[in-house]
Amino acid sequence: MDVGELDLLVVGAGAAGLGAAREAMSLGLSVRVLEARGRVGGRARTDLSLGHPMDLGATWLHAAQANPLVPLAEARGLALFDHDAVRSARVWLGDHWAGEAEAADYERAERDWGIAVRLAAARARAREGGRAPSLAEAAPRGGFWDATLTHWEGPVIAAAEASAIDLDDYLATLLSGTNLLPREGCGHLLEALAEGLPVTLGAPVSRIDWGGKRVRAEGDFGALEARAAVVTVSTGVLAGGGIAFSPALPAAVEEAAHDLPMGLLEKVGLPAAGADRLDTPAFGGMERRLEEGERAMTFVAWPFGRGHLEGFAGGSLAWELSRAGEAAMVEFAFSELRRMHGARADRALRREGAVVSAWGRDPWARGAYAAARPSRGGARRALSAPVGGGRLRLAGEACHPSLAGTLAGAWLSGAEAAREVAALRPAAGARA
Ligand SMILES: Cc1cc2nc3c(=O)[nH]c(=O)nc-3n(C[C@H](O)[C@H](O)[C@H](O)COP(=O)(O)OP(=O)(O)OC[C@H]3O[C@@H](n4cnc5c(N)ncnc54)[C@H](O)[C@@H]3O)c2cc1C
Repeated sequence: MDVGELDLLVVGAGAAGLGAAREAMSLGLSVRVLEARGRVGGRARTDLSLGHPMDLGATWLHAAQANPLVPLAEARGLALFDHDAVRSARVWLGDHWAGEAEAADYERAERDWGIAVRLAAARARAREGGRAPSLAEAAPRGGFWDATLTHWEGPVIAAAEASAIDLDDYLATLLSGTNLLPREGCGHLLEALAEGLPVTLGAPVSRIDWGGKRVRAEGDFGALEARAAVVTVSTGVLAGGGIAFSPALPAAVEEAAHDLPMGLLEKVGLPAAGADRLDTPAFGGMERRLEEGERAMTFVAWPFGRGHLEGFAGGSLAWELSRAGEAAMVEFAFSELRRMHGARADRALRREGAVVSAWGRDPWARGAYAAARPSRGGARRALSAPVGGGRLRLAGEACHPSLAGTLAGAWLSGAEAAREVAALRPAAGARA
């Protein structure tokens, strides 16, 4: 692979890698992106096998007002849809759907749950030298809706059990603002943003040597050298030893990768069998009220009026189903839907043609996104510290202090890393 003298090597062509490459090029750096898979987008992938787009990974452009992908999508004429404007949700109470009064009670409980968690965080901060609690320790228990709310905020939103999430990190990474949906999919959006970038696909990096003046990346593709490297692989890949670093990463960075384990969120798309839409409007949400310790899938029906329903499994349930395989994921989705709709679910939806994500088994992801372990709230900062005088820098969703677990956080983290590399550029005429 002859690419001439390079300023920057980027490992990974997901949101962070693409953000890094675009920013570096706009600052005049020469760049090469090495991507293990045969496609760009990383944990954003749009599947078309249902006959229309379905995102298997990233789905919403969260925090739209602060999301750098929103103006980039708009500049390309890609349609963005305000999901919040049409959002509706029904909650199954075991023998009936929540009525108006019950739904209002759920909303009140949600506010109280949020207040209780913030109060617990404030109390923990006031206790000097005390161990920072997990989200589970801070979450209220025993109330009618508490288990449902803790399951929602843990496995469904953060992709991890509440007992495995640092409370301060949970609060620091809460998302606010509008949630937009790219009509053609988030994966499609990243493909569009990768156009014209110097990406080499099918080039897994197995070793990075940053001991010398230049950084060297090696793999079956051969070897490439550059003045600096930005590595955007997931903490799952990092902690699992997916890339050998020589010298080894500093202990604090290595530890940070382990302190940010991958949670798991898996998606399943079930095609409609006929005209029955289960009395649910386009984008209608469905969830169940849960008892303490219970786990469940949540659903979004018929996005954009399309003929499929999307199920989400998170946390320990997702890991179990991911290990059990695609058929188990589909069967679990049907068992959940039967609890809410009876045998009608079997008639309304098809198993054949179902689409199932597999982020847990994917060697280039090893999970969905990372949550800080309890008492390890500072891990995101430690993970993104410059290494080797700035020659090496990790970036990606896990590195962003507030938009972690999102495309926006990944993109911004990559762009920031590229700016740091540009700032280290030797003055004109100086030898690198
Ligand atoms: C089911 C699911 C739902 C989600 N929902 C949303 C959502 O609605 N909104 C949102 O904003 N975010 C969502 N996310 C999170 C979002 O997808 C991620 O935060 C984001 O895509 C991470 O981008 P990244 O660049 O940090 O990492 P990645 O996308 O993982 O990119 C890293 C890249 O590195 C490559 N790579 C790995 N190892 C090597 C190697 N050795 N050599 C070379 N390349 C390598 C990988 O193939 C990958 O392309 C979701 C994720 C999942 C799984």
